[in-house]
Amino acid sequence: MTLDSPVRELRGVGDAVAKKLAQLGIKTVADLIDYYPRRYDDFSQLTPIVKLKPGPVTIQATVKQATGRYVRRGMHITEAVASDETSSVRLIWFNQPYRAAALKKEQQYYISGNFELSRQRFAIMNPSVELASEFPLNTARIIPIYKETKGLTSRQIRAALAQVQPLIETTHESLPSWMLEKYHLMNLAEAMLAIHFPESSQQLVDARRRLGFEEVFSIILASLMNKREIASEHAPPVKFDEKVAKDFVKHLPFKLTDAQRKVVWQIYQDLEKTQPMNRLVEGDVGAGKTVVAAMAAVMVLNADKQVALMAPTELLARQHANTIQSIVKPLGYGDEVGLLVGSMTKAQKEKARGAIKQGKLRFIVGTHALIQESVDMHELELIVIDEQHRFGVEQRKTLQAKAGHMPHVLHLTATPIPRSLALTLYGELDISILDAKPAERLPIKTEIIPATSKTKLYAAVDQQIETGRQAFVVCPLVSESAVLEAESAEKVYDRLSKHEFKHRRVGLLHGQLKADEKQKTMQAFVDGEIDLLVATTVIEVGVDVPNATIMLLENAERFGLSQIHQLRGRVGRSHYQGYCYLLLGDKAPASRRLEAVERTNDGFKLAELDLTLRGPGAIYGTMQHGQLDLRLVQLSDTRLLADAREAAEAFLERDNLLQYKQLGHRIKHLRAVTNLN
Ligand code: ADP
Ligand code: MG
Repeated sequence: MTLDSPVRELRGVGDAVAKKLAQLGIKTVADLIDYYPRRYDDFSQLTPIVKLKPGPVTIQATVKQATGRYVRRGMHITEAVASDETSSVRLIWFNQPYRAAALKKEQQYYISGNFELSRQRFAIMNPSVELASEFPLNTARIIPIYKETKGLTSRQIRAALAQVQPLIETTHESLPSWMLEKYHLMNLAEAMLAIHFPESSQQLVDARRRLGFEEVFSIILASLMNKREIASEHAPPVKFDEKVAKDFVKHLPFKLTDAQRKVVWQIYQDLEKTQPMNRLVEGDVGAGKTVVAAMAAVMVLNADKQVALMAPTELLARQHANTIQSIVKPLGYGDEVGLLVGSMTKAQKEKARGAIKQGKLRFIVGTHALIQESVDMHELELIVIDEQHRFGVEQRKTLQAKAGHMPHVLHLTATPIPRSLALTLYGELDISILDAKPAERLPIKTEIIPATSKTKLYAAVDQQIETGRQAFVVCPLVSESAVLEAESAEKVYDRLSKHEFKHRRVGLLHGQLKADEKQKTMQAFVDGEIDLLVATTVIEVGVDVPNATIMLLENAERFGLSQIHQLRGRVGRSHYQGYCYLLLGDKAPASRRLEAVERTNDGFKLAELDLTLRGPGAIYGTMQHGQLDLRLVQLSDTRLLADAREAAEAFLERDNLLQYKQLGHRIKHLRAVTNLN
């Protein structure tokens, strides 16, 4: 048995189980070892029966009187009595008819389960039972619980892991020994063993810290190496021209905020350097990032070069193209702004591509189409990536490759990543924060509405529509499936358009619709021809409809904090008061999370809360999070982050990555997924 052996070679893993494991991404022994538990149940304390208290318990006992019977509706119940020298206790299993026959008299068993009330009497419910031994697997220890799939239980995963325990024990160390010593880290073999077979809760804490340290250390090292590489590249500098900047500001319908001024100035300084810019502009929804990007862009246009702006959706790309056109038109660049998106006809695209190649279009706005299609942008000097966390890294790289040289890159994001964290995870980026919003904005009024007040709420929304405003009704992601999400939106649309809002113009928007349908519906909403738009979270980013002032979230308890904050940003875009109603589903209680959104309008605060409550996945999106392989690290552990950064810097100074094979492998992967050039 080696790390590369297929799991099929393990005892108890037949074709069926192997197939289930493959569904979880586990094909080899190495994959299996790398499959961390999602949580643990502490069954390590043996308790005399007479001293049992409600909750998870483990006893050592003999079992008698095991009987099984079918009760109503095909439900099966097995009951037994377990005894030790202090007392006896009932054991109950539901729908495990094999239990009674499997229990032998006179045998000492470890029995672990939840001690709780069942029909007025206490019992241990659905316990795991194992012969008492020195090395119990499913009882009498801290039991790892794995993410399971239908027909595959943690018990089976544990049984498979128990067979490769000797292999885990020989895991090669991946970090230099000076690092383990300096930061008091467990060695890798010990940590991996403890993750699957923890002997104590302290050992588990130490193991998680060790593995978490390596996760962030690797990311920081990768981004430091990327940063060095970018710094050694050459990019043609873009000369600052004061007249252009002044002209731009003069033609704006509003005054730039101080925050916007400051950030634009930072960008201009970057552009003048001979090294490529790689800057992230973080600004809450509505902070005004588009105009910052446009102002950076005109300096590049003034230098006779091209700019590309990529948006995550067509909807947003079209909207950006319009906005940008109106901003740069007074400066004489109106005809040079062009759109390139997937849903354009072949002829339209052909025309756009030709114009881009000839340099007639110099400010190109688009979606993925910009990279997928053969667009020749040899004069490309600046790339702006809106909502950057929504793009795969590969896509960014392809676009940058088109320029033929390293262009300047500006990333815009409304995801308020706490600064310390951004520095850790995006170490190769310089960061600018737009920390103030345009002054005349009214804070959005947010309110949690219990399901029982639904009718009243709809009536209140109707009244606001009566005064000429428009409303969004957003349905939650019901699962990871876009199809199901569309279904849920369709249901709400049906209900609202036939009942509560049958006298209004109701529209439907979701990701499963054809691009031109989406476009039509959105345009109708922008033009005020739809009063109430039922949508999925496709509208989350960017859509700008100032007359829409109401955001109603159905089943609000299913949304993430940051997500709700992004969504309500849609209705705070004008001098009208914006409202965000968090309508709870039947029986859903208001949570601390939702109360936080109700209380504060500060995206950074909410992001930090989301981070502590739900982990980094909540902020970065599951895809990137997974790619970065942040599974165990507590990103709120600032001490650990600081240690890992110090360690990465020291490693670059004194070590040679070539001597660390495993680490080198990991860094290579991370450099690819975090590399922005
Ligand atoms: P985001 O940062 O979410 O991308 P946008 O760039 O879409 O925000 O800007 C939101 C709205 O605010 C737009 O309608 C824009 O014209 C307006 N805006 C931007 N800057 C200012 C400002 N300094 N004063 C007033 N309105 C502004
Ligand atoms: Mg935006």
